[in-house]
Amino acid sequence: MEPTHLRSHTPLSLATHFRDLGLSPTLARRVVNRVVGEDRDDLEGIPGLPRRASDALQGHGDLRRLRVVDRRRSAVDPFVKYLFESVDGRRFETVRIPLEKPRFSVCVSSQVGCALACGFCETGRLGFERNLEAWEIVEQVLTVRRESPERPVTGVVFQGQGEPFQNYDAVIRAAEILRDPSGGRLRGDRITISTVGLLPMIERYTDEGHPYRLILSLTSTDPEKRARLLPVARRYDVADLAQAMRRHQARRGGPVNLAWVLMSGVNTGADEARELGRLFRGVKVRLSVIDVNDPTGEFERAGDEERSGFLNALAENGIGFVRRYSGGPDIHAACGMLASAARGGAVV
Ligand code: SF4
Repeated sequence: MEPTHLRSHTPLSLATHFRDLGLSPTLARRVVNRVVGEDRDDLEGIPGLPRRASDALQGHGDLRRLRVVDRRRSAVDPFVKYLFESVDGRRFETVRIPLEKPRFSVCVSSQVGCALACGFCETGRLGFERNLEAWEIVEQVLTVRRESPERPVTGVVFQGQGEPFQNYDAVIRAAEILRDPSGGRLRGDRITISTVGLLPMIERYTDEGHPYRLILSLTSTDPEKRARLLPVARRYDVADLAQAMRRHQARRGGPVNLAWVLMSGVNTGADEARELGRLFRGVKVRLSVIDVNDPTGEFERAGDEERSGFLNALAENGIGFVRRYSGGPDIHAACGMLASAARGGAVV
């Protein structure tokens, strides 16, 4: 039997991986419930699990944990940023996000670093180190849950370090484990996967019919501008991405979810709002507007007047929007800022 991490499995994949043990679906669910649902490292006393099976699972199954290297609490809001170290010494970050109701969501990383080099993103400046495994994603959520007994963790958003669709299989597996009733017990529609627009993966994701919310981080409708901001955009046409999101919406229902990192003088014009209106005419859109956080100073936040002008133009063009508060600025927990600690402790 190949060694495997036990927290990288759904009940079905666990039973398949350890098929020689002949685990029934019920027993496989009990094992996942023990190591993910109950967040424990032992298999003692699982009802009906034979000693031979328990020994084989422990012998071939890894149960190591991530190490919390640092946790920074924001002084201005209830955000917490975690710096994790995995078993190979690689480091990555996770953010605990307070929701309006007394609940938390967890912004998880899917890669160590990122290869896509978006111009306004600190992670992109790190470069790519490796993909995270499913258990390393699940463990980020378990750790926040374990350390936050005061509020339930009800949501997960794949918007930390990395492009989730460049680590597709592990991200989908982690989402399945987090949704499973014997695993993380989250609702599928409370798990959100955010992509900068890897077109073939959006199509695949739509075809596979997953229940998780998909957000396309569009940020500009102008092909040249978008390619400057997000180099991967050179590969995929904006109109094709819009079409793929329309197809996704038609299959899944609900609005087309888009994200827009707002940058002064870059993507706040009425021309962008008009083009959004044209690309998505006839479908409901929910555009999350996020103020840029660029510690290099190359990109600046829009002032109130500029932002209001853009939001009004969105409304005039039939584009629904929400302003997303990108919190924890004092601990560099805001969107696009997950890199400082990994670079060697430059966190304030
Ligand atoms: S915005 Fe996302 S995809 Fe782009 S460099 Fe940053 S982490 Fe990677």
